Amino acid sequence: MIERTDIDVIIVGQGIAGSSLAWALIDRGMRPLVIDDRRETSASSVAAGLITPVTGAKLKPQADFSFLAGAAGAHYRAVEAATKVDCYFARPAWRLLSTERELSIWNNADPGLLAELKLTDDVPAGIAPGLVNTLMPNAARLDTQRYLEAVHTALCDKGLMLGGHVEPEDVTRVDAGIALPDLSVRARHIVFCRGYADARNNYFAGPSWRPAKGQVLTIRCPDLDIANTVHAPGLWLTPLGGTLYLAGASYEWDTLDDRPTAEAREALCEKLDRLLTVDYTVVDHRAAVRPIVQGRKPVCGPSPKDSRIWLFNGLSSKGALYAPTVATQVAGALCKDIPVDDEYRFDLRASGEWQDD
Ligand SMILES: Cc1cc2nc3c(=O)[nH]c(=O)nc-3n(C[C@H](O)[C@H](O)[C@H](O)COP(=O)(O)OP(=O)(O)OC[C@H]3O[C@@H](n4cnc5c(N)ncnc54)[C@H](O)[C@@H]3O)c2cc1C
Repeated sequence: MIERTDIDVIIVGQGIAGSSLAWALIDRGMRPLVIDDRRETSASSVAAGLITPVTGAKLKPQADFSFLAGAAGAHYRAVEAATKVDCYFARPAWRLLSTERELSIWNNADPGLLAELKLTDDVPAGIAPGLVNTLMPNAARLDTQRYLEAVHTALCDKGLMLGGHVEPEDVTRVDAGIALPDLSVRARHIVFCRGYADARNNYFAGPSWRPAKGQVLTIRCPDLDIANTVHAPGLWLTPLGGTLYLAGASYEWDTLDDRPTAEAREALCEKLDRLLTVDYTVVDHRAAVRPIVQGRKPVCGPSPKDSRIWLFNGLSSKGALYAPTVATQVAGALCKDIPVDDEYRFDLRASGEWQDD
């Protein structure tokens, strides 16, 4: 096989991280080659792709949300325009407050929270109202499967996509960069974007990993007719089109695999039974592992062992929000040597200067 030498950067993994990075590099005139083994239970393909300014039981508004969401929306719309595939939907989402903790936070809400949650009486038929009902005007959703497929097709059309499995041990260092001899390709840099698989990457020992398995149910609900996502305590429900909805998601830290479990299904159904006043049936059940590292923020940068070998990972539970901004940083660093923000730098996170929330 003739070795491919027309490539600037090899990207391993075509989840949200690898896809957004490939796009950012092409935008800058570079030629990336994306190599992916197309596993069906990657975090990106199981994810709901929800983008919200307020998350979690603490109702904590994300400080840099406007900036990150602006960059995310711009990227996803650019992909839509180039591929003619609709995958990004900027739509308000309901946030129903029902726990004592949520009510206490709401009763003492600061201006930051009041800017993101607006009181509403408009709860749709089929949904049991919370004690306080609010709407998040700035929410959005990325249909991750459509996005991944759209980027995959665009990369294939440009000859920049390769099916294959790459382990860190497969990388050979050559004078002008790195090579993958088995795949007959060489480039100046390689960037690992393998999600949770990179928790076992010896080039990047450092950030402490806190991956979390998540499970989601696809349900059929013929008597529900909503176009917007609903967030309730410990549960979200988002429309997939027609009578199908995606509901999730569990957080599990003990068993990190992609096997759906009866326990998680039961727990999600209990929450759905509280949220829905109409009947539903479960038609699918999937699981994946979220790539979460210390600090719950993305990490990127070169390996301390070799500056030609990079990592872009740690997208945690907010891959759809974070990926385009961090991809821009990684692409800028690889093309023009612009240093990545301290906030996302691998070496700072690896040295233990970062604390968990
Ligand atoms: C249940 C669940 C719900 C979620 N909901 C949301 C949500 O609503 N909003 C949100 O923003 N985020 C959500 N997330 C988080 C989001 O999925 C992640 O942040 C994001 O998908 C991580 O993307 P990634 O590209 O880093 O990794 P991944 O999506 O895991 O992609 C890694 C890619 O690398 C490939 N790969 C792995 N190993 C190899 C190898 N050795 N060789 C070649 N290829 C390889 C895989 O096939 C895969 O395509 C959710 C996650 C889960 C599990």
